[in-house]
Amino acid sequence: MRATDLLDKDTETVQQIAKQFGISAGYVREQLKQGIKIEQEHTSHIDVAREIALDHLKERPDYYQRLGKIEQGTTEDSPTNTFVRQHIKWVADQLGIDTLPKVRLVDQPKTTSFGTYDSLNDTITLVTGSRHPIDVLRTLAHELTHYKQHQEDRLSIDGGATGSEEENEANSEAGVIMRDFAKQNPEFLEQ
Ligand SMILES: [Zn+2]
Repeated sequence: MRATDLLDKDTETVQQIAKQFGISAGYVREQLKQGIKIEQEHTSHIDVAREIALDHLKERPDYYQRLGKIEQGTTEDSPTNTFVRQHIKWVADQLGIDTLPKVRLVDQPKTTSFGTYDSLNDTITLVTGSRHPIDVLRTLAHELTHYKQHQEDRLSIDGGATGSEEENEANSEAGVIMRDFAKQNPEFLEQ
């Protein structure tokens, strides 16, 4: 959709959204602030970013809370990043979680790991550069399992250590989710 189309679209005010969903205007305003920040990564016009964010919030007031912040290493979204972004909610649904941490997509690994979950900052970082989308999805499922463990107060400090109970669960959950993905998307794996 072009920016001009978005500006032409009807948007509702923060007050209207709050009233419609029976939530506080303060919450909507806070979500809008976050949304504008995120949308500004795709447009240099703050007005356009505001319109896009309002359109999302109109459909779903907790849109940005659920989606988490997605950072990109490049201005253009890579096909892998787009694929991962499109499947975050699906993976979360498989795990039965309805909140999401921030999710950062980066091109290059800073450590030896392709994925990390930082419970202190509530952020999952995934390396997407030169990786197969399916591999990234598996890492996402693994790290989201750690997020779930943290939500349920079951993630110990060394929870990510090889052989730990939490790590085994993350590996096996990721395995199950990827099997389900393959079943639902056989065409994707044939490529
Ligand atoms: Zn792990």
